[in-house]
Amino acid sequence: MTTQNINGPKPKSGILDIHAYVPGKSGAKTGKVFKLSSNESALGASPKATEAFSAAAKDMALYPDGSATELRAAIAKRHGLKAENIVCGAGSDELLQLLAHAYLGPGDEAVYSQFGFLVYPIAIASNGAKSVVAPEHAHRADVGEILSRVTAKTKIVFLANPNNPTGTYLSAAEVKRLHQGLPAHVLLVLDAAYAEFVLSNNYDAGVSLVEAHDNVVMTRTFSKIHGLAALRLGWAYCPAPIADVLNRIRGPFNVSLPALKAGVAAIEDTRFVDEAVAFNNKWLSWLTDEISKLGLKVTPSVGNFILVHFGSPEAAQKADAFLSERGLILRRVDSYGLPAALRLSIGPEEANHAVVAALKEFLK
Ligand code: PMP
Repeated sequence: MTTQNINGPKPKSGILDIHAYVPGKSGAKTGKVFKLSSNESALGASPKATEAFSAAAKDMALYPDGSATELRAAIAKRHGLKAENIVCGAGSDELLQLLAHAYLGPGDEAVYSQFGFLVYPIAIASNGAKSVVAPEHAHRADVGEILSRVTAKTKIVFLANPNNPTGTYLSAAEVKRLHQGLPAHVLLVLDAAYAEFVLSNNYDAGVSLVEAHDNVVMTRTFSKIHGLAALRLGWAYCPAPIADVLNRIRGPFNVSLPALKAGVAAIEDTRFVDEAVAFNNKWLSWLTDEISKLGLKVTPSVGNFILVHFGSPEAAQKADAFLSERGLILRRVDSYGLPAALRLSIGPEEANHAVVAALKEFLK
């Protein structure tokens, strides 16, 4: 790599093979811009969370509570969980990285599915382990394909459920089958960043699997439904031995005070969450229908985003440029191996209408 000095310090093997994560774009030329590229909250954050964040300003000189006691209690109460099995992190990204850091090393393998979230290969390679990719069918993870790639070397299976960028999910029965097929030494990480948006009866984020087994962790985030992406706040629900491991290796103050305070307010504002779920449900189906009617294929999604297929990489690129010029910033997903598609986050009402109108014009 050109930025590396041949005589300078050398990172561990595998690090220079990593393609740095490319976040969704945020800029456009002029006028009103709708950032629909990072699956952020269409409704922003709860005003109560904003208030708690502002109130935290007076305590900026103090370290936060390193064990996130109040926040873990609030999460536990809201979801009916055991607070001591919750570990908070600076975004669920940090928790995914910590899990990889704790359980993967050179010679180990970790499995994820073909269009799985791109933080997994970064976390795997950062620890000198090898990524093993299981093919998907119809842009959906496949339990059989994942299980057939598990070997004695496998230490972690990462599953985003629902998955980003596809928006598809595995049912509770399929996740259970996946877990049943794994040897006890393999850690199943259920990344449920979009869990709150899913209204299907056969979906389960993974709480009961975590509680019943020593080799399942569920990760969650405040970045999506709660609209706190800027604060970097996530949590993991873990069997006691895994919570113990994460607490040993995490930074002692890995979650900031404003994040802790806003997180408590956000999780307690159940009315805001319910509104956000209802809003997403309405506009997810509206956008899916309207864009399908234009003749574009849309992968059925249960998240707060959809994957729109343009037929060819050139068409997707042109559509991206056309929409960008109109202040509509979508997400290119070439790095996921989906160059003919764009990912569109569900936005505010005005943005959703603007996207459909712009696509109509583009396809003329
Ligand atoms: N998992 C998935 C599947 C995601 O899409 C994201 C956000 N893009 C994350 C985890 C990380 O979210 P955060 O670090 O903001 O909690």
